[in-house]
Amino acid sequence: MGYRGRFAPSPTGPLHAGSMVAALASWLDARAHGGTWLVRIEDVDTPRCQPGTGERILAQLADCGLVPDEPPVWQSDRSPLYQQALDRLLADGAAYPCGCTRSDIARALAGQGREKPRHGELVYPGTCRDGLHGKAPRAVRLRTHPGEVRWADRRLGPQHQDVASAVGDFILFRADGLWAYQLAVVVDDEDQHITHVVRGEDLADNTPRQVVLQQQLGCTTPIYLHTPLVRDTNGDKLSKQTGASAVDTRDPMAVLKAAAVALGLPPGPELRADWFASTVAAWRVAWP
Ligand code: GLU
Repeated sequence: MGYRGRFAPSPTGPLHAGSMVAALASWLDARAHGGTWLVRIEDVDTPRCQPGTGERILAQLADCGLVPDEPPVWQSDRSPLYQQALDRLLADGAAYPCGCTRSDIARALAGQGREKPRHGELVYPGTCRDGLHGKAPRAVRLRTHPGEVRWADRRLGPQHQDVASAVGDFILFRADGLWAYQLAVVVDDEDQHITHVVRGEDLADNTPRQVVLQQQLGCTTPIYLHTPLVRDTNGDKLSKQTGASAVDTRDPMAVLKAAAVALGLPPGPELRADWFASTVAAWRVAWP
């Protein structure tokens, strides 16, 4: 199978300068490899998604000439696929139901003298690994095993993490009845035969969990490239949460040039057709 890449925005807000950089990077990499570029709207986290935003993102991309080679897929249409993967993991004993609330987890960790949260997330203490202890099932977790997970990033170089100690048994199906990002992304990347993932560096930290899940499901691990984050004037990451404004695609060349510069590429020529050819060539030299 030839190169297949994707841009996978969550429709929690329109594209801003930071997400535009991720979109352009994934598009450039696909074009530089003579590959296929897909867009997947990651709308599983429904409470965070805004109605109409997936369509708005697709329109912003189209305004900039970034049109997917196959019809976009929407994660909200794909529950049966996620359910199948979850059922397999549960049947194998690779995943298990968990009845813990956040305060149950905090209490169990304190009892083990391990209360320090990692990035504000609690490392799951494993309470329900051997059964629910009379509690009602709330979520489903993947059973992790000690040992370093290794993966290579085209920009960050060799990476490793012991997922069991760094994050613990992580959520696949949430207590609020929603699919977890980790499960949906791994199932979709496999189902869509994604060979290369190009995305923002803020997601690099998720990769070891995704590799563990890929191995458990017998999926192929794609090749990863995590691009530098775009920061605002305070040095903070641009994000929808911090109110980054939508890119104004009425001037698509300005948007594309700014995204190229953020990726360390030349701003490129004025004419769109020339711009695409020369920017793909520049990308190919930067990220062979
Ligand atoms: N949907 C995720 C986000 O917008 C990106 C997922 C991915 O590229 O793996 O943050």
